Amino acid sequence: MKFNTKLIHGNRKEDETGATNTPIYLSNAYSHNSAEKLESIMMGTSMGYAYTRISNPTITSFERRIASIEGGMVATSAASGMSAIYLAITNIVETGDEIIASSGLFGGTYTLMRNLKSFGVNVKFLDTINEKTLKENITNNTKLVFAETIGNPKLDILDIDAVSKVCSENDVILIIDSTVTTPYLIKPLEHGADIVIHSTSKYINGTSNAIGGIIVDGGSDKYKNEKFKNFELFTKKYGRMAFTAKLKNTIGRDLGAALSPVNAFLNLTGVETLSLRMREHCKNAIAVAEYLNENSKVVSVNYPKLKSSEYYDLAEKYYSKGASGVLTFRLGSKENAFKFINNLKLISNLTNIGDTKTLIIHPSSTICAGNTKEEKLQMGVYDDLLRMSVGIEDIEDIIQDIENALKAI
Ligand SMILES: *Cc1c(COP(=O)(O)O)cnc(C)c1O
Repeated sequence: MKFNTKLIHGNRKEDETGATNTPIYLSNAYSHNSAEKLESIMMGTSMGYAYTRISNPTITSFERRIASIEGGMVATSAASGMSAIYLAITNIVETGDEIIASSGLFGGTYTLMRNLKSFGVNVKFLDTINEKTLKENITNNTKLVFAETIGNPKLDILDIDAVSKVCSENDVILIIDSTVTTPYLIKPLEHGADIVIHSTSKYINGTSNAIGGIIVDGGSDKYKNEKFKNFELFTKKYGRMAFTAKLKNTIGRDLGAALSPVNAFLNLTGVETLSLRMREHCKNAIAVAEYLNENSKVVSVNYPKLKSSEYYDLAEKYYSKGASGVLTFRLGSKENAFKFINNLKLISNLTNIGDTKTLIIHPSSTICAGNTKEEKLQMGVYDDLLRMSVGIEDIEDIIQDIENALKAI
């Protein structure tokens, strides 16, 4: 199947009733008519459902769909993007280990990384992750590199081929958060990533009606390296499925951050139109970026597909279909930024991205308010910066709203 067909039919199982959508199974537990059957399900030696925190038919259906479109071996969902990231990281690292992460990370992930210190896990934040900086910073204790395809809100583009090559040479796991780009724009596993993460709350769901996250396992044999002693049992028994087997049997079960079956259903519905939506998001975002770029009240615009962007060449290399719907721009002062927001009518002021609706936020006073001045600078968050997630309304209406608000400055 090709991509658009997979969005609708990938790994789909026929329901015996003929229902065209997997029903929402709102049942915590599943009964079986023999003790032997339940024993074998609980031991993982036969297929079936026992308890919804562990697995559920609607959730499984969603996980299989995402594994199909991302080209992964298997996918595990979670209650949110944050819990997916937390689970994936803590499934790998132990006290004394090191993580290398980009300083342009999504704010919540940045804080999560910083908080790992209390478990004795050290995170090195690099302003730029590339072949050179990685080679300089990887040590024997480095277990994983965590980066975003296109950073939110820094909008820096990862040279994923170069980075995955260094990770492979050093047996370091590469986890990629592809929330901003989705498999419509890039499939990180094809570029050498080991694990792909999405906050499905954003573009995968598409209409912002369900918080969720997912971890896609590409099936790596790096865990066989002696530095991953904590994987020994799992690589012996499960081979390339070691990561997911460990996740499901240890931290995943311990934390119990299961996705709701209702949210799995909403995501299954949403993801069918991913290509249609992403095409419009990309088309509208470049139009807004070009419009803002021409306006004298706008100090600068950051969108990787603008020729003025320092990431333009990488954007051309990796993102031929577009660079998603998120852009940032500066208005000269915090006062101007606030005035702009206060004069918008169509565009909503809120903390989110990836909705069909156009959204705006002033990151410095909201999502990054808990970060120090220095951290904000590292993240590319300035006092006069606004982040916009361009929706799929008619472009004329979006531009009209922006034009009116700019007049107020
Ligand atoms: C929103 C977001 C997250 C966190 O996801 P939640 O579903 O809100 O927990 C992680 N990474 C990126 C890039 C995001 O945009």
